[in-house]
Amino acid sequence: MDGICQSCFRLGEVRKPGMSYNIGLIAARLYKKNDGCFCKGCIQKISLKYFVISLFLGWWGVISFFVNITCLLGDFLSFIGSFNMVPIRSESVKKSFDSKVVAQIAPHLNEYLDIIKSGKDVNYATNEIAEKLMVKPGHINMYLNLVFGKNKYPVVAKVLKSIEKDYFSKIKPFLEKLPQEVLGDTQYNKALEQIASEAMIDPGFVYLYAQIYPQKREKTA
Ligand SMILES: [Zn+2]
Repeated sequence: MDGICQSCFRLGEVRKPGMSYNIGLIAARLYKKNDGCFCKGCIQKISLKYFVISLFLGWWGVISFFVNITCLLGDFLSFIGSFNMVPIRSESVKKSFDSKVVAQIAPHLNEYLDIIKSGKDVNYATNEIAEKLMVKPGHINMYLNLVFGKNKYPVVAKVLKSIEKDYFSKIKPFLEKLPQEVLGDTQYNKALEQIASEAMIDPGFVYLYAQIYPQKREKTA
């Protein structure tokens, strides 16, 4: 099936192979299962990494010994099973995901959510907004990860950090003065744009800040 790879964020053939590793600690064990959807290249990279971790660290402990055999087998099968997949050749989405793209997407988050609320599926909404804004579908996914995903992908966390340093410190004092509950949606958006012009920042970043840190704002309001 076609979709967006959860590791490289590119669009193409993806699968859910279910990869895992085990680290045996004699009295305890660390076990990780990865149920994500990945492209051919990422499946091979991740399954190989997990295989090597299990191969060297997985055996120590009675339960670990047996769990480890299933981990190694599963990762091996994931690796082999990916051979007949179509590799994604498009360029990295991560490299082009920067503050400019973020500013482009941020004001359209509600529009994206409205499409989903209307009953369409996530891929439809992603493609619709990506086409409209002329960004890659993977950019939309990275953006959503930035806002909702607790930044579990290092590359997204890195972008967020650079944006925080550049813009958020400038936006924060303005936003904290904004009493959200007395403003309607349209008024609120207008207020955000007002902040952007006062702080001389692209409105996209003010939207992003408002989307990422709603709790902080509620506390001060
Ligand atoms: Zn991938």
